[in-house]
Amino acid sequence: MAIIDRSRRRLGPPPSMPNSKREPVDEIVTVQKPLAGQPVIRTLAPQKTSLKPEPVALPDKARAEKGLTLMQLLKRQPRYLINSAEDIVIRSYKKAKTKGGMPAIIGTARDMNTRPMRIHQFKVIGLDKGKPDISTQRRIKVSCDCEWFCFVSEYALWTWGAASIKFSNGQPAKVRNPGNHPILCKHLTQVLMTIKKRND
Ligand SMILES: [Zn+2]
Repeated sequence: MAIIDRSRRRLGPPPSMPNSKREPVDEIVTVQKPLAGQPVIRTLAPQKTSLKPEPVALPDKARAEKGLTLMQLLKRQPRYLINSAEDIVIRSYKKAKTKGGMPAIIGTARDMNTRPMRIHQFKVIGLDKGKPDISTQRRIKVSCDCEWFCFVSEYALWTWGAASIKFSNGQPAKVRNPGNHPILCKHLTQVLMTIKKRND
């Protein structure tokens, strides 16, 4: 019995927890030889980004290549999301460039209604090199480190060419977003509305 307890203590949270925020298990736990009549103890393998399953094939390649503008993304957001974006305060907002020289806006945002306070990091990148402003780009990519973005938005936006698979496991949100609607989180909704207002 002591052998089983030792192994379990090193596994971290149970597998039923949302795994995006789970600490990676760095250590490979040795499978103990079972005593007669005892079941074999299976242990979790370390989770590495490189071992994430690849996204399934794009459902519409032409759509993904065409991408979405900032205005097209905003127009596709449901009313409830536009309303809940009013609770979001942008804490930092900075124009930047990616390593490849693409225009970007990065920063942090928080929800005034959420306790305890949680700050989320967002990123908006323009995919047209020639245009310095995000608001006039023909294609933009967005990301946010909140759970909603990971579990509802990321895969769907990827199918529209508007996100990379970074936080999620690259699988469709079959229950929460079965139609792969290019939905944003409320943080990004506020960020895009702010970019539009500022003509950045
Ligand atoms: Zn978010």
